[in-house]
Amino acid sequence: MSDDLNGKTYSFDVCAICKSICCRDANPPLTEERKKIIRNYLLEKKYPTESLFVEGDYAHPASDEKGHCIFLDKNTKKCLVHQVKPETCKAGPITFDINRQTGKLEFYLKKSEICPFAQIIYEDKIRLKEHLEAAKAEIFRLVNNLEAEALQAILRIEEPHTFKIFEEPLPENVLNKINFK
Ligand code: SF4
Repeated sequence: MSDDLNGKTYSFDVCAICKSICCRDANPPLTEERKKIIRNYLLEKKYPTESLFVEGDYAHPASDEKGHCIFLDKNTKKCLVHQVKPETCKAGPITFDINRQTGKLEFYLKKSEICPFAQIIYEDKIRLKEHLEAAKAEIFRLVNNLEAEALQAILRIEEPHTFKIFEEPLPENVLNKINFK
């Protein structure tokens, strides 16, 4: 999905009128590298950089009292760190899982009942292919760079309203992290 010169995105047009709030309770995983990139980006923009991240089973952005991601601008409904946002945010509405039987990285698309944007790209095979390529690059980078414990914790999260659209073998270093035999 390309940005136009006003910084408005194709997805934003659809997402702006959607009643689902993907940035609430999202908790996108963050690698150490991504945290550094986001912090530096905010420093450059002269935004505050205190209490940005939560370190639990895996690191993710902090949330407000309603569960909205700290990086969601309440007025514009845009992501403050759009240019450098976490890998799973860039990949959305494509999500991922790892199949421990096959050792493959599986890619899922959100169902249309929870994501109108997913329906639009599903019906447009060229856009779907483009977005899948972009999502694959993001997610491969993420699973490659995450610590083993964080990756294991993320894989325990259920994402029921999705369906599989693609799969690809994982590199050995990632298989070792999830103790694939
Ligand atoms: S980083 Fe941006 S896109 Fe991702 S959940 Fe937070 S506000 Fe939403």
